[in-house]
Amino acid sequence: MVKTFALNLKSERAATDMRKQIRDRCVECFVPRCWTLKDPSDDGQFNLKGELVKGGKRERVQLRRLLFLLEYKELPPLGRQISMRCDDMLCINPAHMRVKGFEPSYRKVYNMIDREILTIGQAKEWYAEAEQ
Ligand SMILES: [Zn+2]
Repeated sequence: MVKTFALNLKSERAATDMRKQIRDRCVECFVPRCWTLKDPSDDGQFNLKGELVKGGKRERVQLRRLLFLLEYKELPPLGRQISMRCDDMLCINPAHMRVKGFEPSYRKVYNMIDREILTIGQAKEWYAEAEQ
């Protein structure tokens, strides 16, 4: 079952530790390319420490949902699958995620380009349909 959860990122140490754990599971992470999981059999689940969850109870969540929430500040709509615009099934870069019925704002897209997790070419290819 898909869980709803909210993050509490007040503990900088816990948030840094979470990012390190994510980084350790990827070939490369927080880059403008695919964030490919090292292990093809990685189950894509992530154990969130209680101090990172509002309410304080530890949660086991889907890594992609967690990264989507971190990037877009909201969870994907319930019941909606996350697919990958890059077609790499081991990629977890939130800039490459596509959820039916969800389009990030231009501001968010430009922000992802600025932070170099999305290339201009990808933005043109993937987000062009929303540029009207
Ligand atoms: Zn990708």
